Amino acid sequence: MAETHRTKMLILGSGPAGLSAAIYAARAGMEPIVVQGMEPGGQLTTTTEVENYPGFAELIQGPWLMEQMQKQAENCGAKMIWDHISEVDLSQRPFRMKGDSGDEYVGDVLVIATGAQARWLGIESETALRGKGLSACATCDGFFFRGKKVAVIGGGNTAVEEALYLTNHSDDVTLIHRRDELRAEKILQERLFAHPNITVLWDKTVDKFVGEGDPEGLVAIDLKDTKTGEITQIPAEGGFVAIGHDPATALFKGHLELDSDNYIKVEPGSTRTSVPGVFACGDVMDKIYRQAVTAAGTGCMAALDAEKFFAETEFEQG
Ligand SMILES: Cc1cc2nc3c(=O)[nH]c(=O)nc-3n(C[C@H](O)[C@H](O)[C@H](O)COP(=O)(O)OP(=O)(O)OC[C@H]3O[C@@H](n4cnc5c(N)ncnc54)[C@H](O)[C@@H]3O)c2cc1C
Repeated sequence: MAETHRTKMLILGSGPAGLSAAIYAARAGMEPIVVQGMEPGGQLTTTTEVENYPGFAELIQGPWLMEQMQKQAENCGAKMIWDHISEVDLSQRPFRMKGDSGDEYVGDVLVIATGAQARWLGIESETALRGKGLSACATCDGFFFRGKKVAVIGGGNTAVEEALYLTNHSDDVTLIHRRDELRAEKILQERLFAHPNITVLWDKTVDKFVGEGDPEGLVAIDLKDTKTGEITQIPAEGGFVAIGHDPATALFKGHLELDSDNYIKVEPGSTRTSVPGVFACGDVMDKIYRQAVTAAGTGCMAALDAEKFFAETEFEQG
């Protein structure tokens, strides 16, 4: 039987942003409900080693970190529900949502922390080598490839930034692009072309990521020339696919203001969206930093902004 879950603060998403919001909201007496979505714990549950989340002197595992965050939120009083929201009505408060389970969710204020997914090329060898030399985040994983040959696939700002960032760790960085010019901003292109440790390979697509060893790891990339069809191979122990991200915002189209890349727009310096009482945090509103710690930070901000909004509107209504 379908149920209705009613709360002062409804939180969509259980990655670092949603769970940090839940910790702060629970401690403020907002009795938050977290709708966890299809991926409880979020993106970090899909990785192994995390070395840059503060508070841990040794390497930790992403799934373990998210388990701890969830337990911490629950210990503070947050309630977790495993469901995926498929319909929203933000036209009036309280906000109403429907889950795939058929349950209804009603929240006086809403925190959206539905994250973003990295785009992948979608080839078979890529799936096999993800986390075994292949990554979609140089800031997260570049450090693991110190002194090794690495390659970045893409031609936009992110790809160029990732290639430049990787020169902090490697003196042999190759940028692979399927066209003969980059989409990235001019200033970034100038920095890229001026860098002595970056080679750009034009008109090439990835035909295959080549793995070897036990445990298996990336050792080379087979490239196909888009003009001649010729296949060549380059050695690479680290491969970074940088062809963009898709924020999980399809659900909010027409309900909230989104930017040209479909990220939720927030007022600068806050988590307030275009609808009063709706707040957004983490990767769903941040296309620049996209880190667990920044997601957690904006999750805290969203809970504080939402709690303040709730208190002010309650006071006004008497
Ligand atoms: C392989 C990999 C390795 C990474 N390594 C690092 C690292 O080492 N260090 C680092 O700082 N960052 C790392 N990152 C980036 C980091 O994981 C993200 O920046 C962070 O998880 C963003 O947190 P978030 O809470 O905004 O969103 P996410 O973690 O993406 O969580 C989104 C949540 O929203 C839920 N959701 C989505 N749609 C709905 C819906 N309709 N209804 C209900 N729930 C919904 C999902 O189930 C999920 O729980 C890595 C990312 C990847 C993919």
